[in-house]
Amino acid sequence: MDNYNLHVEWIRTMSETKKIAVIAGDGIGPEVVAEAIKVMKKTEELFGYKFEFEHGLFGGIAIDEKGTPLPQETLDICQKADAVLLGAVGGPKWDNNSKELRPETGLLGIRKALGLFSNIRPAVVFDCLKDASTLKPEVLEGTDLIVVRELTGGIYFGEKFRREGAQGEEAVDTCVYNVTEIERIVRQAFEVAQKRSKRLASVDKANVLETSRLWRETVNRIAPEYSDVEVEHVLVDNCAMQLLRRPSSFDVIVTENMFGDILSDEAAMLTGSIGMLSSASLGEGSFGLYEPVHGSAPDIAGQGIANPIATILSVALMFRLTFGYEDAATAIETAVKNVLDAGHRTGDIAVDKSKAIGTGAMGDLIVAALRN
Ligand code: NAD
Repeated sequence: MDNYNLHVEWIRTMSETKKIAVIAGDGIGPEVVAEAIKVMKKTEELFGYKFEFEHGLFGGIAIDEKGTPLPQETLDICQKADAVLLGAVGGPKWDNNSKELRPETGLLGIRKALGLFSNIRPAVVFDCLKDASTLKPEVLEGTDLIVVRELTGGIYFGEKFRREGAQGEEAVDTCVYNVTEIERIVRQAFEVAQKRSKRLASVDKANVLETSRLWRETVNRIAPEYSDVEVEHVLVDNCAMQLLRRPSSFDVIVTENMFGDILSDEAAMLTGSIGMLSSASLGEGSFGLYEPVHGSAPDIAGQGIANPIATILSVALMFRLTFGYEDAATAIETAVKNVLDAGHRTGDIAVDKSKAIGTGAMGDLIVAALRN
């Protein structure tokens, strides 16, 4: 055995097996997750890491087979795991179900149950894909940002009800944030900024909303603890504009749940395709849930044409943020870049659709491009 193989063998013996809960879900979920698993298996071979996969039902398929979008067995598998890899859930079959029997209800439930209070979404514009975006290439030049979104508070989780008002029926959605919820997400964003270019944009609507005023006060109170990070406060409407005008000027953006939902989708579109975007949902500690930003894409499910890159890049995030496997994370990102630079494209990012390759072929090329 040569030195390199001896080294890999040594890491394999020393490294502890990481348990990964795999929840493929619906539509293209199982198709893209299969490619991500191929990539993880290749990294076991190349870097000596060890993974154990346990599969669970979630979303529409779980409604069909178990009568609930988030069965207790699946939650148990996730709680025992070191990290969760999720495909996507949902589809027209379940769209008219009652709220408890909708796949998306399972998504909110799993985040709450696993204590995942932050969602991290990188939006990186690959040079070779600048033409796939609707924005001018010169505006996109150098765009590499991360949106850190609060995930378990705010208006999505506040009390909601209807009532009879003086002028007919009224609907009420309440937005509540406590200082603890704000502080933990803001601290996580400061830590992410410290590892990058040390710039943090905190986005709120402090000119109008009381929750935003508490948000801004909290950011200002803890900012001195991260004195190496430069903080900018940006109103959400201005941020939405600046993301289109000067996206490369942002590095880390931190914001509350609903603003983050909207801004991270806007940032996603800078990159050209939703099929390229990874995400991490984190809580306290290293545990995380990793998933592509896209949904189950029922329009292309079962055709073998979905882009698996978002899910494969989510594995790179998992390696970096949960396991600290920086070598394998960088290797995956480099392999993706090299495959794209060589001109290979799935249909969603191909200019010439007749030359597009399928999900499995894209996964195989990335596996083949992986190097230690
Ligand atoms: P979607 O992201 O599934 O699809 C939007 C468009 O992007 C479609 O045209 C689709 O074909 C395309 N697309 C998405 N991912 C792609 C990929 N990897 N490769 C190539 N093309 C891709 O959003 P939608 O159509 O609004 O929602 C479909 C279902 O997914 C709904 O039931 C929705 O509730 C659910 N959804 C789930 C999640 C999740 O699981 N986290 C997120 C968003 C939407």
